[in-house]
Amino acid sequence: MSEFSMELNEDQIQIQKWLHEFAENVMRPVASEWDEREETPWPVIQEAAKAGIYSFDFIANAFADSSGLLLPIAGEELCWGDAGLALSIMGSTLAVAGIASNGTPEQLMEWAPQCFGTPDDIKLAAFCVSEPDAGSDVSSLRTRAVYNEADDTWTINGTKTWITNGGIANTHVVVASVDPELGSRGQASFVIAEGTKGISMGQKFKKMGIRASHTAEVVLDDCTIPGRNLLGGKDKLDERLARAREGKKSGKQAAMATFEATRPSVGAQAIGIARAAYEYALDYAKERKQFGRPIITNQGVAFKLADMRMRIDASRLLVWRAAWMGRNGKTFEAGEGSMSKLYAGETAVWVTEQAIQIMGGYGYIREHPVERWHRDSKIYTIFEGTSEIQRLVIARAISGIHIS
Ligand SMILES: Cc1cc2nc3c(=O)[nH]c(=O)nc-3n(C[C@H](O)[C@H](O)[C@H](O)COP(=O)(O)OP(=O)(O)OC[C@H]3O[C@@H](n4cnc5c(N)ncnc54)[C@H](O)[C@@H]3O)c2cc1C
Repeated sequence: MSEFSMELNEDQIQIQKWLHEFAENVMRPVASEWDEREETPWPVIQEAAKAGIYSFDFIANAFADSSGLLLPIAGEELCWGDAGLALSIMGSTLAVAGIASNGTPEQLMEWAPQCFGTPDDIKLAAFCVSEPDAGSDVSSLRTRAVYNEADDTWTINGTKTWITNGGIANTHVVVASVDPELGSRGQASFVIAEGTKGISMGQKFKKMGIRASHTAEVVLDDCTIPGRNLLGGKDKLDERLARAREGKKSGKQAAMATFEATRPSVGAQAIGIARAAYEYALDYAKERKQFGRPIITNQGVAFKLADMRMRIDASRLLVWRAAWMGRNGKTFEAGEGSMSKLYAGETAVWVTEQAIQIMGGYGYIREHPVERWHRDSKIYTIFEGTSEIQRLVIARAISGIHIS
């Protein structure tokens, strides 16, 4: 367990600097172009792979950091560069988190490297939970996985929607119901490896923001996979289902276990966008003159910047606390993971809007990146649990009452 300190260690500072340089030199110059093109930015992913950022080793090192801070640091710096491009680089990590939180160590070692491939042969991965009729309510997933005892295989049918890297990924981690009567306790996660028949991309969505990140439907039509692709294994699943049927408290639920682990890092990404907008607006406010003086000399503008900085710093403290707790096995007694993602996400939306306001008309046009950052920020109050769902988690945790 790491000792409490507000200072990053030398390794963390070096990695932060390295990622910042990548964000500044590789991502920023092409961010607007990929936002307009709304396509998967393969050359940027390639650069990230060559640099060692898009790799299993990098993610494994970040997960291993005993303070838990390396993943949030990475998320913040890359999203400071550009959130759409960053999600193209980090999208596969959500699938890895799905494997890590539900699979055995052997399954993790087998499949996680395949989520990234190599710089010469890049692979992508996707984590598929959401469905057209099951977004916030993950207990009502309709995608079914049926076990075929005769040949030890699972057959999966259903439609997943809004999936980052959906259909273009080589590896899909899919959460499906194995016993619908048990709701989320009757779900399990499966790895659908490259080349499996019966999985295809449905429609690709056009979006408001993070447009360089691919979002699409994933259609599973009699998709049959080997029994060993069930994360955690059949014995564990059978035990868990038996406990659930007896009405006993079961351990973790497949989708929730993943989201708990990833929320602080998602919050960190939102901070990256907010920080980009804050820095840009601060510089602008010092330069822009109206009534013969820089606009920052008006309290009305300067106080906005003070509040922006304060909320960003508060968000980071919440994110780092939750990341540290998660890494060091502390229980989230008050929904600390949700708090971090909720506060950082809402901060990003608010800060980017203030940045537009400070820049006036220049903030609203595409010549400057601030309007894009505002569009990019909005997803952070929606995916990986909406702000309302995060408030539910916190309210239930602090009250012990099942608030609905
Ligand atoms: C760009 C993008 C990328 C995504 N990537 C992925 C991915 O990779 N994998 C994946 O599985 N999913 C992904 N998602 C899906 C995302 O997680 C869902 O959109 C999100 O969970 C919300 O579900 P929903 O859209 O169905 O909204 P709904 O659940 O229909 O919610 C609609 C509104 O009702 C509110 N609401 C619902 N229930 C309650 C309640 N009990 N109390 C109060 N308010 C409530 C919500 O907060 C929201 O405001 C992605 C979505 C987008 C847009």
